Amino acid sequence: MGLVVQKYGGSSVADAEGIKRVAKRIVEAKKNGHQVVVVVSAMGDTTDELIDLAEQVSPMPAGREFDMLLTAGERISMALLAMAIKNLGHEAQSFTGSQAGVITDSVHNKARIIDVTPGRIRESLDKGNIAIVAGFQGVSQDKKDITTLGRGGSDTTAVALAAALDAEVCEIYTDVDGVFTADPRVVKKARKIDWIAFEDMLELAASGSKVLLHRCVEYARRYNIPIHVRSSFSGLQGTWVSSEPIGDRKVEQAIISGVAHDTSEAKVTVVGVPDKPGEAAAIFRTISNAEINIDMIVQNVSAASTGLTDISFTLPKAEGRKAIDALERNKEGIGFDSLRYDDQIGKISLVGAGMKTNPGVTADFFTALSDAGVNIELISTSEIRISVVTRADDVNEAVRAVHTAFGLDSDSDEAVVYGGTGR
Ligand code: ADP
Ligand code: ASP
Ligand code: MG
Repeated sequence: MGLVVQKYGGSSVADAEGIKRVAKRIVEAKKNGHQVVVVVSAMGDTTDELIDLAEQVSPMPAGREFDMLLTAGERISMALLAMAIKNLGHEAQSFTGSQAGVITDSVHNKARIIDVTPGRIRESLDKGNIAIVAGFQGVSQDKKDITTLGRGGSDTTAVALAAALDAEVCEIYTDVDGVFTADPRVVKKARKIDWIAFEDMLELAASGSKVLLHRCVEYARRYNIPIHVRSSFSGLQGTWVSSEPIGDRKVEQAIISGVAHDTSEAKVTVVGVPDKPGEAAAIFRTISNAEINIDMIVQNVSAASTGLTDISFTLPKAEGRKAIDALERNKEGIGFDSLRYDDQIGKISLVGAGMKTNPGVTADFFTALSDAGVNIELISTSEIRISVVTRADDVNEAVRAVHTAFGLDSDSDEAVVYGGTGR
């Protein structure tokens, strides 16, 4: 029996009952002969509550102190979980990200893991303990400050530890039975996927399927760590995410893997940009200097009479203020007329490896949206994904329409949501 890493999300440890339930599960794995490392998230919506609190004392909390605050959430759950395990008669020790050897760069609020040195975890395991690690946090290599890995970052902690400890598997326990063909909170007829390739899961995660974080899947693919996404509330087999199907089960790669949606982005339009070389470079240099990642970009046709054009791009809502401020500061240098900000947008994406060889998919996707009366504002594609931006109000309807149009609906309402608030 080898080493397993188990990660429990916030909804699985939302209250004392949840912590006790999860503790029993962890002890089972230990009794089955595994060495067990557990990564735990903050209880329930604690992280959101801490963010709300910070915003009440400062309009734009950021940086070092914000990270100090947010990491407190995971410290609470790790200590409580260790206590609950001890109460069941087993030894457990909790560790902060820093103590567990999670070394990051120094970009606060969205740090990247650059190394994992889990000496203390190994030591603890060798003494027969269950090791509990606070998710979503690390320590910066140069400044030695506490950092956080971005929302949902406990998934990445789990996979990074699994890689560093050469674990057999990384189990991600959450409030649904696995990865579905769409978010079960939106599509009751979503189907559980038994196996999905890293590539497809990467696109789904990047397009807003928050059941797994994009960076965690990237990490798992790089180190070839199989992930098993499953519910902490049921005993069912979940979804395997790996390069090849696990075991001797013959699973065909689906043509369409699923539909993702995302309402966490906003759209910025830079109005009246001179249509000459270097303008887009100046705009996006400004944005990247502010360390903001953007998603989609469109440039309108320039009006011949004025020689001016508009450029729109999407970015996380949380970065909206920063982007507008940075562009305003460079208004003279870039030379645009004005800025527009729209946070009532949503994105719908269809993902599947079969798209590469099936030109009809795009047309069917647009037909499904038009039949549902959904207007499209922006479009972007990759080899295995097509995404559109619509009004936020249209997103749920659009997801359901596309899910049905591509024959993804299951015959029964099997998608159960066991917990969480969907926040
Ligand atoms: P945790 O607290 O365990 O990290 P998250 O809320 O981050 O849980 O992720 C689980 C949620 O992801 C589910 O409750 C579900 O609403 C959402 N989700 C979005 N897309 C999917 C999908 N394709 N399959 C399963 N869940 C999805
Ligand atoms: N608690 C953090 C969050 O809510 C990290 C995580 O749960 O993965 O984003
Ligand atoms: Mg999560």
